[in-house]
Amino acid sequence: MSIRYIDEIDDLRGKKIFMRVDFNVPLDEHQNITEDTRIRAVLPTINYALDFNAKVILASHLGRPKGERNAKYSMAPAAMRLSRLIGKEVRLAPDCIGEEVTKLLDTMQPGDVVMLENLRFYPGEEKNDPDFARALADHCDIYINDAFAVSHRAHASVEAITQFVPVVAAGFLMKNEMNYFEKAMKNPIRPLVAILGGAKVSGKLEVLESLCSKVDKIVIGGGMAFTFLKALGYNVGKSLVEEELLPTALKTYNMAREKGIKFYLPIDCVVADRFNPAAETKVTTIQEIPEDWMGLDIGPATVTLFTEALQNAKTIIWNGPMGVFEMDAFSRGTFAMVAAVANSYALTIVGGGDTDVAVHRAGEYAKISYISTGGGAFLELLEGKKLPGIRVLEENGHK
Ligand code: AMP
Repeated sequence: MSIRYIDEIDDLRGKKIFMRVDFNVPLDEHQNITEDTRIRAVLPTINYALDFNAKVILASHLGRPKGERNAKYSMAPAAMRLSRLIGKEVRLAPDCIGEEVTKLLDTMQPGDVVMLENLRFYPGEEKNDPDFARALADHCDIYINDAFAVSHRAHASVEAITQFVPVVAAGFLMKNEMNYFEKAMKNPIRPLVAILGGAKVSGKLEVLESLCSKVDKIVIGGGMAFTFLKALGYNVGKSLVEEELLPTALKTYNMAREKGIKFYLPIDCVVADRFNPAAETKVTTIQEIPEDWMGLDIGPATVTLFTEALQNAKTIIWNGPMGVFEMDAFSRGTFAMVAAVANSYALTIVGGGDTDVAVHRAGEYAKISYISTGGGAFLELLEGKKLPGIRVLEENGHK
């Protein structure tokens, strides 16, 4: 069954719409929002609903309040920023369920926007508690999920709530995510190249296995490359290695090769004498990593190799940085790959929190076809899993 989207709903006029969004934005110590991409990403859906004079009730989590009320995790900064972005008052509800909230929502006029307080102030949210979900559903005529980044979580506002609302659909952010994912993974224009990086292999082996039946080339960088290199017999010094995964890494590598997939690993790296921005560093080939040093970025020869491997790509998906890009000394490889991906002639899809930060920092986001808002959700889609939040949209979208 297919997902129904907000523009397929007959009449939004004056209706109470409960919109699950992901406003889990980063805040500094003064509760200022340092990056508001997640709020901006949902504006098309909010504005669409407002164009129909709907009553828009927004619900999100922020941080990890662990089921308890905590002012530090209030949705107030997000409500304020949204108000500035849409040029309209956004009232912050005192809670997300309860009598006071119901009273406030009963006073809403068409075209009003209310932001509920943090959903995770209640343990029922993460427990997918049906009673909590029913209390949330009480607020609305229509449920819209536009929080792709949490759709891999079976939480009350993502999953259980859909049983209790008559009309269930997804927003435009979700539509974009699903459309681009399908373009890349279901009917890709080939060659299809997957670039994987980040710290660890664990959590990404399932993705790699699933990719092996879909992609033409796999490019591996970041810390996870060292587990593969060690499994292939290289001495990688003190680089990050997950010893217990060595046999599985080797198996995955061999499986990819047997399927005829081109499997690219780094040939050189930037090594450091300690994990520190001020560490002593040098570039070395993979065969000559000193015993006491650790690889923290891909080297210049690898950048050339990887860039060349991307030359004939028609579709590229990328998750995870090529090195510890948060530290200047180990950021060059990731930024060089951002440039290579941005300047390629391919449909390019970048996903995963860290990778999108790197793309934004490099100022190349306008040249990437699509930057996914999902980290874990994006990886699980790549793994071929059915995400709980997507499954219920499919099941309940046409009830
Ligand atoms: P992940 O959450 O698995 O995508 O990992 C992202 C993190 O991987 C980033 O914070 C990077 O600093 C880190 N990372 C990338 N390359 C390395 C490396 N060679 N050694 C240690 N950490 C790395």
